[in-house]
Amino acid sequence: MKQKFNEHTAPFSYITSPLLDDWGIPHAFTRRWGGVSEGVYSTFNFATGNGEKPDRWYNVMMNHRIAASLFCLTEKDICRTYQTHSTEVRIVDERHRGVGTVNAPFEQGVDGLVTGERDLILSVRGADCVTILFFDVVKKICGACHSGWRGTADKIAARVVEKMVYLGADPKNILVAIGPSVGGCCYTVGSEVENAFLTSDGDFTLCFNRDGEHLKLDLQRAVELTLLKAGVPESNISDCGECTVCDGGKHYFSHRLCGVDRGTMAAFIRI
Ligand SMILES: [Zn+2]
Repeated sequence: MKQKFNEHTAPFSYITSPLLDDWGIPHAFTRRWGGVSEGVYSTFNFATGNGEKPDRWYNVMMNHRIAASLFCLTEKDICRTYQTHSTEVRIVDERHRGVGTVNAPFEQGVDGLVTGERDLILSVRGADCVTILFFDVVKKICGACHSGWRGTADKIAARVVEKMVYLGADPKNILVAIGPSVGGCCYTVGSEVENAFLTSDGDFTLCFNRDGEHLKLDLQRAVELTLLKAGVPESNISDCGECTVCDGGKHYFSHRLCGVDRGTMAAFIRI
């Protein structure tokens, strides 16, 4: 279900799902202000990026420290994905504190994380791709993933639910928050993208719209459809419905608007 997310401006700019807030679940989808990065990365940037002049790792790390302070923790308590548009979801624990921040990153693509560990912050990133946060309110298990078009076609959100169930979660008790991404209004794709989705699941046809010459994809809707099929009730799915392209750079970084010369937002959750 679409829900207007709660907006916060201190200690930095971020939004939270009203559904998860009602349950007191610590989480945040960052917006672009409140950090220390400069230039095209101004200011709350979470990846050094692929631009000609990458952001300084020091700035990225400081931004992680600022974000972790929201949870009364530090960057040493964050476990950070190594995103390659894979469908790899890792179960992480105490040993993964600081992975990708103060310690070495994962050695290969990991686009989703699941944990039952308290006070371990899961961190995923995006700038038009969907970021998704999960929490089982009975078993106290959380998850997070990055879902670009490939990951969405390959149903990474369902892989996260599977790993949570492996740890003892029940899909009926899992709340999900879907963050800002390029919306169905602005995401023009080619037929190769449509083919990948329809090969994965014919029902994904519901997520495509023809707008004159243009074929448009609603990624957030595709994630919702995947979650419903994985057994998560519709009333447990909270979708912010915000489009990072329509936003025009006011609150969000957008790959479609700025190419590689832009920062990256992050989403965080912990038990
Ligand atoms: Zn839009």
